[in-house]
Amino acid sequence: MDNQEVTDPKFAKYHGVDRNQIQWNPVIDEGKCIGCGLCVTTCGRSVYKFDFENKKTRVVNPNNCLVACQTCANLCPSHAINFADGDRTREKVQKIVKDFKLLQKVKKELEERKDSLKY
Ligand code: SF4
Ligand code: SF4
Repeated sequence: MDNQEVTDPKFAKYHGVDRNQIQWNPVIDEGKCIGCGLCVTTCGRSVYKFDFENKKTRVVNPNNCLVACQTCANLCPSHAINFADGDRTREKVQKIVKDFKLLQKVKKELEERKDSLKY
């Protein structure tokens, strides 16, 4: 699927990076999807809707997806959800961390949010 605009302003930034610049969204292999509904009922970011007629989940708001989450993919009983070509999801996530300099951004963020994050 082509990258789309974030549809919920709450999710517009990821550690300060415009979410629309980050290529991270689930792709469903329709042939594998058994229409169980686990993904669409679990995701808290309205990434999915359910096609009741065809008993398939559809990706409708791809860029609402939390970068690196993968909860739905881990839950899917039929391995129908993917985030990267093949099995290289971790490599893809680490490339995002590097490309967008997330470690530097998070270092600053930790200081800024110290009061609320402090143990
Ligand atoms: S969890 Fe997997 S099988 Fe179930 S509806 Fe979602 S994509 Fe389809
Ligand atoms: S990875 Fe997480 S945020 Fe993204 S669609 Fe799946 S459950 Fe939703």
